[in-house]
Amino acid sequence: MRITEAQMVSGWGNNFHSLSTRVVVTTHGEAEEIVSMATSNRGLLPIGALRSYGDSALNSGGTLIDVTALKFLTIDSDTAIATVGAGVTISELEHAALVHSLFPPVVPGTGYVTMGGAIAADIHGKSHHKTGSFSQSVLQMTLLLANGHQVTYTPSDPEFWATVGGLGLTGIVIELHIQLRSVQSNSVEVTEHRVANLAAMLDLLGRSDKDYEHTVAWIDLSGDYRGRGVVSLGNYGTKSVKEKSVTGGLSLPDIGGKNLINRSTVKVFNEIWFRKPLKSGPVALTKYMHPLDGIQKWNRIYGAPGFLQYQFVIDEGREEIFESLFTGLRGLKASSFLGVLKKFGAATQAPLSFPRPGWTLTLDYSVTVPGLEKFLQEFDEELVAAGGRVYLIKDSRVSPALIPAMYPELEKWRAIRSSMDPQRLWQSDQARRLQLC
Ligand SMILES: Cc1cc2nc3c(=O)[nH]c(=O)nc-3n(C[C@H](O)[C@H](O)[C@H](O)COP(=O)(O)OP(=O)(O)OC[C@H]3O[C@@H](n4cnc5c(N)ncnc54)[C@H](O)[C@@H]3O)c2cc1C
Repeated sequence: MRITEAQMVSGWGNNFHSLSTRVVVTTHGEAEEIVSMATSNRGLLPIGALRSYGDSALNSGGTLIDVTALKFLTIDSDTAIATVGAGVTISELEHAALVHSLFPPVVPGTGYVTMGGAIAADIHGKSHHKTGSFSQSVLQMTLLLANGHQVTYTPSDPEFWATVGGLGLTGIVIELHIQLRSVQSNSVEVTEHRVANLAAMLDLLGRSDKDYEHTVAWIDLSGDYRGRGVVSLGNYGTKSVKEKSVTGGLSLPDIGGKNLINRSTVKVFNEIWFRKPLKSGPVALTKYMHPLDGIQKWNRIYGAPGFLQYQFVIDEGREEIFESLFTGLRGLKASSFLGVLKKFGAATQAPLSFPRPGWTLTLDYSVTVPGLEKFLQEFDEELVAAGGRVYLIKDSRVSPALIPAMYPELEKWRAIRSSMDPQRLWQSDQARRLQLC
């Protein structure tokens, strides 16, 4: 076990900096020891790779239990079940699974996410309309509870679903059993289409659900906000391709805390992206799933003030909300470096899981954009009135008053959570900010 003196920790957005003690545990036994010694004053919080954007993985004045060293990983190729430690990353699982012609059914946009972080957020990928979210491939989980005991839960237990999307506030995920799917090769057969506006994008994404396992659109959220972009459609391929490692490559240098993102740089980037040659054919699975992983520390591009990622979901039939969002952002002269639009399928029974049927849009903005915070506060209200909600693992700013409307099963989650942790040992900055517990 390694215990550091209080140190500054930030999420991926670098917009919050929090001072806490960090304990790196290397075995289950060490995790049990630290839990048994803990007091609930500012409490404990398990953390993974700190790829959550806001304050979900921060615990100012408290203790962070870093479980990234819990790396055990075995795969039974007969049953296609992987047994993984909480610190195993999505990328590590993908590479181990591909050796057996298997693959995790749900992977996010970066391979650096750990198994613990994947459960705590109930992550989704480009295939949500077919495979649902991460928890739907989990057969069982072992959790270290606040009372120091390890318990194994399955999807028939309410504690399982309270932990799914539960933001690390029910206990430490120690181990998962994950049902993998078979693949014929290490590739995805990809087709890309350029679309001129949002209506064309929604139409193509909506029509492609049936025939494609992976659907996602990059949307240009700069300039006049017409919603032009590139729609990418893919199915698991049959031809294996030479795989260039996407992780551990280029690293964005420290640029002295300067923000390189402004209207002009974003406009140029979006123009290049829109005009780039369209892909057609097999692409390595890992490259297709994690396009940004080729550049380490790309979050430094926003400089010292950091950035926020705003992701929401809205029902089909409520598309008018996009126009309202685009008009407001155009008025602020705000440009998003990254805009991603996807369609979700059915929800799980987890009270705090984010995905549910409808459209989900993701935007990145520097926190320095004048008027952005006020505009997003007004937009949140409009979103809630239209029945939508924001993704909590990416949030750093939503008002606590809106959470019960966004997550109507919050009370159910609170009751299960309290029964698992009556002394409120598990705490985070986000839980305090949003009054979750
Ligand atoms: C470039 C990029 C792309 C992304 N793409 C997607 C995407 O496509 N889809 C998507 O859904 N998300 C996406 N995300 C968000 C990311 O998947 C989540 O934030 C995820 O939770 C990060 O996992 P982590 O290991 O970094 O956990 P951390 O950020 O360290 O922690 C996140 C939460 O998990 C909890 N936690 C961590 N480990 C454990 C554990 N062992 N037991 C219990 N709780 C634990 C923490 O307490 C915290 O609440 C993306 C993030 C980035 C940076």
